[in-house]
Amino acid sequence: MRLPETPRMNPDRLPRHATKIVATLGPASSTPQMLEAMITHKVSVVRLNFSHGTAQDHIARAAMVREAARIAGREVAIMADLQGPKIRVGKFAEGKVWLEPGAKFTLDAARTEPGDIDAVGLDYKDLPRDVKPGDRLLLNDGLIVLAVDAVRGEQVHTTVRLGGELSNNKGINRQGGGLTAPALTAKDMEDIKTAMSFQADYVAVSFPKNATDMEMARQLCNVAGAEFGHKPGMIAKIERAEAIPKLEEILRASDGIMVARGDLAVEVGNAAVPALQKKMIRLAREMDKVVITATQMMESMITNPVPTRAEVSDVANAVLDGTDAVMLSAETASGRYPLETVQEMSRICEAAEQAEDPSLDLDFRGHYSRIDQSIAMGALFTAHHLGAKAIVALTESGSTPLWMSRHAAHIPVYALTSRLATQRKMALYRNVRPLLMDSETDRDTALERAEAHLKKRGIVQSGDVYAITCGEPMGAPGGTNMLKICRAS
Ligand code: PGA
Ligand code: MN
Repeated sequence: MRLPETPRMNPDRLPRHATKIVATLGPASSTPQMLEAMITHKVSVVRLNFSHGTAQDHIARAAMVREAARIAGREVAIMADLQGPKIRVGKFAEGKVWLEPGAKFTLDAARTEPGDIDAVGLDYKDLPRDVKPGDRLLLNDGLIVLAVDAVRGEQVHTTVRLGGELSNNKGINRQGGGLTAPALTAKDMEDIKTAMSFQADYVAVSFPKNATDMEMARQLCNVAGAEFGHKPGMIAKIERAEAIPKLEEILRASDGIMVARGDLAVEVGNAAVPALQKKMIRLAREMDKVVITATQMMESMITNPVPTRAEVSDVANAVLDGTDAVMLSAETASGRYPLETVQEMSRICEAAEQAEDPSLDLDFRGHYSRIDQSIAMGALFTAHHLGAKAIVALTESGSTPLWMSRHAAHIPVYALTSRLATQRKMALYRNVRPLLMDSETDRDTALERAEAHLKKRGIVQSGDVYAITCGEPMGAPGGTNMLKICRAS
């Protein structure tokens, strides 16, 4: 079993830190030293944003992440976030224009020359087919609002409602959703191949409308991953109005979702987002899926060394809502204080977790017909009532720890696996600490070492009770059929 040798900083010393941090890589964080420091300070998932950079950049960054994780003594998951059909205006002759409220402005799919104060071309050529008079178009994340007056051929004629600066290639959303662009572009399909070449643990799909978008993305990933024997976890970014009524089918087709509050807020309106966040987190957990809460969580720390009170509350509330992970975007990609932001976010998560109601949110109304699932729930129930200090789960696929982590049990789950891909995937699961063991290790040796590990980390002391789940025979996914309660020697 390769448990990390006493790392420089002991990331697991406290039994807390249940909520995971996703950090986006960018110029501010793409050095080995910064990555190592961020991983040591509790970043568990590194996001590569395929909206920026070349395939070579991402390949080099992924290698840097793996190396930094090795040095830090803690494996992390890599999430490849596909750009998707970002619907954008074209470029301007001067790089930008200033739109006055009340002015007329035309979005012209046929225009080839650079834009000006009256009109601009479109990257997204289908826009004239997707909109009708009366629609409101939101540009640049809603900072500019255009009302559609008429559609003539390839031209969408609008009146500026909310004015401001509009620069090259800014995004367009239609209020209420309804743009028909497919979720996967030709670029995304190429990027999937790149991401599979370094075995990205998760692939995040932007703007999926339904389950079919996710199924198609999964199939492309599995085909591209086949030569590496790799199947990534699929994350659906919920950022389109149409995705909301389809949430259940999208969840069924995915391994998890991202509450992508940036684009979502533009499509459904800011005020609807907090309630949707709670609903999405609840539904994801009920359906045994993971959930990441994203966008502007610590936005002011892009330029300031401390967060606002509102940001502190936002992060804490996402933790209390039950999210698996909170995500940093520009804060770590291009901000001035990437490491400070991670440290601050980690402190907020920890404090929110301490404040949680310590009761077990598990009832037995759910019908568990599977043996492995029953063992997982039995372990939670028993460990909770015995005041166990930890649960050790021997796992091949990671399912047992996933099921346990769908409940607020307040007992850390140490997930031991012989599969590196499983170890990395579990880095996103709330309250799960993934550890790697050699595949030759027999069960008794693995369990002895697990106890030694828990004692070394101060999680259990002599006489403390902890629970173990495992399967007989060992090594078969879905084979968990035993629950053992131990007293540490
Ligand atoms: P993005 O997605 O940062 O890739 O746009 C997240 C969001 O829209 O909130
Ligand atoms: Mn988005």
